[in-house]
Amino acid sequence: MTETSPCRVCGDDIAPDRAATCNNCQGPFHLRTRQDQDGTDCGDVWIHDQHLSLEFACNLCLGKAGKEPAIGEGH
Ligand SMILES: [Zn+2]
Ligand SMILES: [Zn+2]
Repeated sequence: MTETSPCRVCGDDIAPDRAATCNNCQGPFHLRTRQDQDGTDCGDVWIHDQHLSLEFACNLCLGKAGKEPAIGEGH
């Protein structure tokens, strides 16, 4: 049992220095905070044009999660 929640996107545990919280769903996800870190990001961060605040979004909310290739293409 840990206090950290698993990544909402890939389900793996998140190291404290790689944890980000999605502004949309409030779920935790992997995000590299330094350029020398390896591994994959499970979301993205950018600066809001007007608020100049950091916006975090997980891949699920960005529609990029794509764990498996779509089968049948039938929504
Ligand atoms: Zn992840
Ligand atoms: Zn999200």
